[in-house]
Amino acid sequence: PSTQSRHGIIKYDPKIHTFNFERQLSLDIQRAMNENELFIVYQPKVHPEQNSVVGIEALMRWKHPVYGIISPAVFIPILENANRISDVTDWLIERVCQQLAAWTNIGIELPQISINIPGMYLTSPRLNKVINRSLLKYKIQASKIELEITETSVIHDIHNAISAVRTFREKGLSVALDDFGTGLSSLSYLKEIPISTIKIDKSFIDGVPNSAKDASILKSIIHLCYSLDLNVLVEGVETKEQVQFIMGLEKVPIVQGYYYSKPLTVEEYEQWWKKRKEVGEQNGEISIG
Ligand code: C2E
Ligand code: MG
Ligand code: MG
Ligand code: MG
Repeated sequence: PSTQSRHGIIKYDPKIHTFNFERQLSLDIQRAMNENELFIVYQPKVHPEQNSVVGIEALMRWKHPVYGIISPAVFIPILENANRISDVTDWLIERVCQQLAAWTNIGIELPQISINIPGMYLTSPRLNKVINRSLLKYKIQASKIELEITETSVIHDIHNAISAVRTFREKGLSVALDDFGTGLSSLSYLKEIPISTIKIDKSFIDGVPNSAKDASILKSIIHLCYSLDLNVLVEGVETKEQVQFIMGLEKVPIVQGYYYSKPLTVEEYEQWWKKRKEVGEQNGEISIG
């Protein structure tokens, strides 16, 4: 049902476009997985004082032949709606474990890789099986894997989320609470859920250090997390001033953000790693690209 204008050009109809786009993506996802249209980039997590990499986060990208590069912020919710998210997450887990094993083989040691787990898949028994299978297949210790779950997904089904997280922690995996502070939730669930790390959302660092209020909110959140005995990571750190602010804190959290590195392809990450190794972890500004 397209509308033709006077000039014979098909008018853009956002409703039809959205419907077709979403439907098309859910039809294309299997091909995308098979033919490497879907791929993974990795973003380092850095200890700013020791200047060491404590882990990397796996982030998906989709290079679609018609739509170009599609952000996961766009395609993940679409695949969730279309009930295709478990297939994609299974694919992701398998690939990440395979990559970790490959890096270990060539001497690139990594303390940990983090995988984003969508809320609706977290509590599925299938997730547990898929993780077990990949750990076994690639001979990976559970402690090498961290699952990132969002506050929103936890609140959605708090009871089952808690028991899923407990199962994974008992197995030795780490579990991080992602985008912390954006879920408009009460903080009471924090003492119930056995997570290992809190990732403080980028929105809390954006105004730092210029805004005194933002700085004091960030400080208080970090303090709260440490007082609950959790590891703390600040995401979306982009500037030197932000890093300096963080380094000035009594207890310095882990950071992740463009200041240290954007998410990198496998090849880029290997170069980044080699460069860092050459420069030496103790005396170094880290530079990439
Ligand atoms: P997230 O898990 O909170 O990931 C962090 C996002 O912030 C990533 O965007 C990353 O590229 C971006 N980022 C990191 N540092 C900076 C910075 O300094 N400045 C700015 N402006 N951005 C920064 P990305 O890769 O587009 O992912 C967006 C969201 O999509 C993720 O948020 C996550 O919720 C979801 N996502 C990404 N990959 C996957 C995946 O493989 N599976 C699932 N389920 N969700 C994913
Ligand atoms: Mg994440
Ligand atoms: Mg995050
Ligand atoms: Mg985020």
